[in-house]
Amino acid sequence: MVNLHKSFSIILAISAVISFLLVSARLEASKKAFEIARPFERPDYVPAASDVTIRSLNFRPMDKNDSYDTLEAMQNFHATRLEWVYLRFNDKEEQLIRKVKDLGRVFGTTGQCATGVVVEMAAGREYVANSMVQLDGEPLFLEHSRHWTVPIYPGCVNNPTYKKVNLEYYNRNIDYGAQTIQRDDPSSQYSFAAAGMGCFCEHCMEKFSRYLDENFTDNELKNKGIDALESFDFKQWLFDNGYVKDNKMTDNPLKQPFIDFQLQALVNFYKDIRSAVNVHAKTRVPFSCNNTSYQRWEQPYYHEFDFAISELIVNTANPVHIYERSQAARSFGKVQVFGTPKSQGKDFDEDFMTALKRRVVAATYASGALSRVPWDIFQQTRDGRGRYFGKPENYADLYAFVRANDRYLSGYQDAGAFGPGLEENPYGAEKPVLIESEEKDIYAFIRAVPGDKQAPVVIHLVDWNQQNKPFKLVLNNKNFFDSDRLSVSMAVPVEYVKSEHDRAEKAALAMLEENEKLSGRQSSAFASFSKTVKLEISKDNSKTAVNVPAINPWAILIIDTE
Ligand SMILES: [Zn+2]
Repeated sequence: MVNLHKSFSIILAISAVISFLLVSARLEASKKAFEIARPFERPDYVPAASDVTIRSLNFRPMDKNDSYDTLEAMQNFHATRLEWVYLRFNDKEEQLIRKVKDLGRVFGTTGQCATGVVVEMAAGREYVANSMVQLDGEPLFLEHSRHWTVPIYPGCVNNPTYKKVNLEYYNRNIDYGAQTIQRDDPSSQYSFAAAGMGCFCEHCMEKFSRYLDENFTDNELKNKGIDALESFDFKQWLFDNGYVKDNKMTDNPLKQPFIDFQLQALVNFYKDIRSAVNVHAKTRVPFSCNNTSYQRWEQPYYHEFDFAISELIVNTANPVHIYERSQAARSFGKVQVFGTPKSQGKDFDEDFMTALKRRVVAATYASGALSRVPWDIFQQTRDGRGRYFGKPENYADLYAFVRANDRYLSGYQDAGAFGPGLEENPYGAEKPVLIESEEKDIYAFIRAVPGDKQAPVVIHLVDWNQQNKPFKLVLNNKNFFDSDRLSVSMAVPVEYVKSEHDRAEKAALAMLEENEKLSGRQSSAFASFSKTVKLEISKDNSKTAVNVPAINPWAILIIDTE
């Protein structure tokens, strides 16, 4: 009897657990997009979700043989921000900067890691001052610039002269009208230390001794093989103890402290530069950085920047990487502007690259990031001179589509992404969207307004196949709204007609009030570049099936209640 009672209790307990699990699974499965999307306070000093960024390394045309024109390109691609411009500090530039601002654009310049390094030719060789220094005393340079006319010699952030000249340069950019500043190659001091290559200049050696003094006890130092810090010289110590091979530091008890020291020095450098620039400008100057073709965010020095404008390589030009890195940026409170893939000197088919760049543009905005216009793209050829200048007829339709759809971009946040390589399903057991397609690489990026159960939910569809074919989507109604009946419409970009684009650009400018910048407020000027497509839809109370016609490569599905 006792045993029977016991068994009965166990059965009761098990059923209770099972019903709890069933209820939880049901609750989990009916999570809605607006609940999955997490709020993100987007600072007003970073690019908005429907902004378009273009770079021009120098103002063009640079001379009378130059067929490229920066201001023309800026308008042709409907860019709202012209950033990453190197100034030569002349009167003509001052006029051009005024013009950029009169045209309602944010204007930003740049300074890179070698700004403040002096390179002089004398007696047939280069003399470099203020740069980072290798163990053999020679200046360090960035490997990819090895074959350039003048390689990039990064300055040493522990060198007071470099710091002074670097700051003076930024302040001069502010005086010329820069509203944002981009820092190229921000990682040098850390990367070279981590690789055991530097910097071993006298300033670094002196400051490293001080760092050891402040961070380690005498006993700890003794255990690492240091007797007296007063006479300690790290570089000499490495040579004396046989910790040098091929001009690099090998594993040793001070390797990690040295890397930590250089990392801290780099973070402090950016903190100091930024606060000094703010004082000079009498305002908070937004800084961006080039966080490489891999969109790195994890190292603390990247966090000293407000947003990143990066490059991209063919290997990282894929939707899984773009989505993952966009969410990583957001997790650090940052915004990522992606470059479009550079050729790195390889001979890619032009049509293949154009199609790939179009897909990249689509995937970045679909992931809540931005894409820099494929114009004045550094190709990373051997001599460093290769540049790519995209044509408006290949890309302007996509950027006009972005400008037109501000209402479905701004305020929207990630609510899950699906497609090959994106296996995580934040909704629980069932997926909110199933993609049924002959072709493999179709991606669906769900975006919703966090906490807003009324706002339409959008699904950005990006077709990553070379051939675009129709496909089918099946939506799980309960993941979208309380209502069982969904209404679905689809917006796609419109084929490029130059005169239409010129007209829209003028209309947007005419809407600007005094001192106003271009933004989502002028999206109606671009409305005709987002076309609603008629869809074949079949629905019941739990599922909505949509036949999607071929898209090239981007569509926004707008899901609402009936
Ligand atoms: Zn140094």
